[in-house]
Parts: sequence; C-alpha cells; structure tokens
Amino acid sequence: MNILILGSGGREHALAWAALQNPKCDKLIVAPGNAGIAMIAECASLDITDGGAVAEFAGENNIDFVIIGPEAPLAAGVADRLRDAGLLVFGPSAAAARLEASKSFTKEICDAANAPTAAYGHFTHAEDARDYLRTQSLPIVVKADGLAAGKGVIIAETLEEADAAIDDMFGGVFGGAGAEVVIEEFMRGEEASFFVLCDGSTVLPIGTAQDHKRVGAGDTGPNTGGMGAYSPAPVLSDAVAQKALDEIIRPTMAEMTRRGTPYHGVLYAGLMIEGGQPRLVEYNVRFGDPECQVLMLRLGAQALDLMHACAEGRLAETRVNWAEDHAMTVVMAAKGYPGDYEKGTPINGLKALPEDSFRMMFHAGTTATDTGFAAAGGRVLNATARGASLQEARDAAYALLEQIDWPGGFYRPDIGWRAL
Ligand code: ATP
Repeated sequence: MNILILGSGGREHALAWAALQNPKCDKLIVAPGNAGIAMIAECASLDITDGGAVAEFAGENNIDFVIIGPEAPLAAGVADRLRDAGLLVFGPSAAAARLEASKSFTKEICDAANAPTAAYGHFTHAEDARDYLRTQSLPIVVKADGLAAGKGVIIAETLEEADAAIDDMFGGVFGGAGAEVVIEEFMRGEEASFFVLCDGSTVLPIGTAQDHKRVGAGDTGPNTGGMGAYSPAPVLSDAVAQKALDEIIRPTMAEMTRRGTPYHGVLYAGLMIEGGQPRLVEYNVRFGDPECQVLMLRLGAQALDLMHACAEGRLAETRVNWAEDHAMTVVMAAKGYPGDYEKGTPINGLKALPEDSFRMMFHAGTTATDTGFAAAGGRVLNATARGASLQEARDAAYALLEQIDWPGGFYRPDIGWRAL
C-alpha cells in the first residue's frame, strides 16, 4: 500500500513511524513532514489545506491511502475533495469536522443526542452574552465558537474577566472564530482523553490518555499545546469508558449519521470525570498531539490496519489487540515557550539515540543543519517510551531526554505525576 500522511508535527512523525512498522506499507510520503520524519520517510512540500493540490499529488504518486493528521485540512474539506477523487481517506468530511470547528455545533449535537455536557448559552451579540452571564454562577467559561488553536477559551473567576473575554471575542481578538461565543458552566473533576475510531456506523475504542496543558511543573504557568501525555488514563476505568461510549460518543455518532453527515476517522473526546460520571468538554476530529505519540507506540503496526479498516468501513469485524502496557511522552520545548522563544538553536545527540519499538524520539519542530539538527518551533521533541508499568515508561522516556544536548531546551520533570 502506498500511503500519504498530511501534517508536520510530532503526531505525524508517530503516525509515519507506526505505518512503517507494518509490512503492508510499501511506500510512505509525508507532506510537508519535518526533519525527523525525513529520516524515515520521503517528505514533500505541498499546501495540505488545498484539496485539489493534494488530490493531484496523490494521483501522480500512485497513493492508495491518505491519512490526514491536523484539523485545518479537515475543516477545509480536504477529505471530501480526496474522496470525490476516488481516494481512500482516513479523516472526517468538513461537515463532520464541525464537531471540532464549531463549539456551538457540538453543543447542539449534544442536546439532540442527550449527551452529558456543561450547561451553556450561545450568542451572536455581546449584550445578550453579558445578560446571560449575570444569570450564571462563577467561575464561568467563555469560548470563541471557532478554531482558535486552544487559545479561545477563558475560564473567568470574576464578572469583570468574563466581560473582558466577551468584549475581546466580539472585538475580533480571535478573528472570525470569535464572531460567535459560547458561555459554559465550569465543570469540576479530572480531565482525560478518549480516542475512538468511527466508520459511519461502528465505534471502536483505541485508547485513553491524559495530557499536561500547563507549561510548568505541578501544573503551573500558562497553557500550552501540551507538555506531555501518558496512556492509559487510570481515571477512564472500564466502567467510566463504557458510560462515555453509551451516553456520549455513540449517541453523538448516531446523531451525525441521522443528519446525513456520518463521521469517519478518529474522534477524540475530551472528558471531565467527577464521581465516576463523564461529561463532554470538547470533541477533536483528529489525534491529539502529543497523545497520538503514546497511542502509536502502544498500538505499533496494528495502527495502520485499524485506520485502514476504519477508512474501508470494516470496523464491525475489527478488533484491537490490547497489550497490558503503558506509554509516556515528554515534550522538550524551546526555552520561553509558550511565550517568545529563540529559533535555530542547535540540538545534539539525536542521531545516536537507542531507538526501537519501545522508545522513540518523535520530532515536532526540528530542521536539519550541516552538523545535525536545530530547533524550529516551540514544541520541538517528544521523548516517547512504553513499558510494563507507567514508571518503566516514564524512566525510559526521561532517559532518552538525558541523552539530548540542547541548552536552549527544557521539559517538565513531572509528566505523569497524577497517575504515579
Ligand atoms: P484545545 O485546543 O486546547 O483542546 P479548545 O480551544 O478546543 O482547546 P476546549 O477544549 O473546549 O477548547 O477547552 C480548553 C480547556 O479548557 C479544556 O481542556 C479544559 O481544561 C478547560 N475547559 C473547557 N471547558 C470547560 C468547562 N466547561 N469546565 C471546566 N473546564 C473547561
């Protein structure tokens, strides 16, 4: 099978690595890819939000299967365009990708599916939003409706903060994403991520994970794209996972099908769990980054079979071969991230790492230099390992990081603290 993966982060490095573990992968191209991916696969420069260009490229390169990593091409309808061109695709249509692209759409689907989630109001005018606010209790969550790269969510402790968030959003701070605003009840509990595949009719769980959003040890400092993750998430016990499937995920998928926009691909449910009851925080229509890294290391070669079966509508006859293992990924970022940081600082030690099916250094933002690699982004490396216990996975992931010589980088020392 000739495979094209779209994307350029640590998530796509992990997807590419997993595809290559499977002997069914004959040829692999990643567009645009990154310097780490270029060590294991061919990389091609391509505008991945241009469905026509991707379809043409896939045709020229005899691609059999396209895996779409990030949300931007999905929201832009690239999966639709590729399916129209007769290609086999892993990733939802633009209509189904609204589950991530519009928070008010997701809330409306939850209402129709009777899925537990935070109480909310949806507004297109600042005055109405402010009036609603005054009928609610604090803290309260103010969200820009559209995609804002994780920055469009404000947890307000005071009315003043909430008012300021409303003014910012309607004032255009988040561009078009803030033209509509959702105000939500603040949910207490522990957050976890649940990943399922859906082929339009069958839902197949493929793993759970917990992320670390804050930049600093002890969950302090500003929010980031994620500083590390581990899988499985102990809070998503079998009983809680079953509730999430029965009460939230399957009813959502059924509602999407009922509306004529069936969901195909991986669905990432962000859940808040309190007293054994899961409630939906958000849906994402792609793998999380860095959660994908731990899922891929755990699933290994079967990840490709699962995604392929999903794309072909064969999930009803597909099983996951579960191992009793644990995995952890620790993000190494450029000093200063998520604020201003320096680009281009040299990173040594990457070429001599002892990598195998138990430990991999996935690249998120590196470039190749004459002498090795340099940092090219905020989140730069993902040290990922698995083991019989979370402690074993943790020790192996941190041991990989100790071999990296990058004075311009840092990582959190406490990934997994909650579970350990
Ligand atoms: P990201 O891209 O970072 O996942 P997003 O922009 O899609 O974020 P959400 O996931 O809806 O936004 O919210 C981001 C974070 O804010 C959540 O992971 C959660 O920690 C917190 N949050 C969102 N909604 C609520 C809520 N109703 N109650 C409590 N916390 C919430």
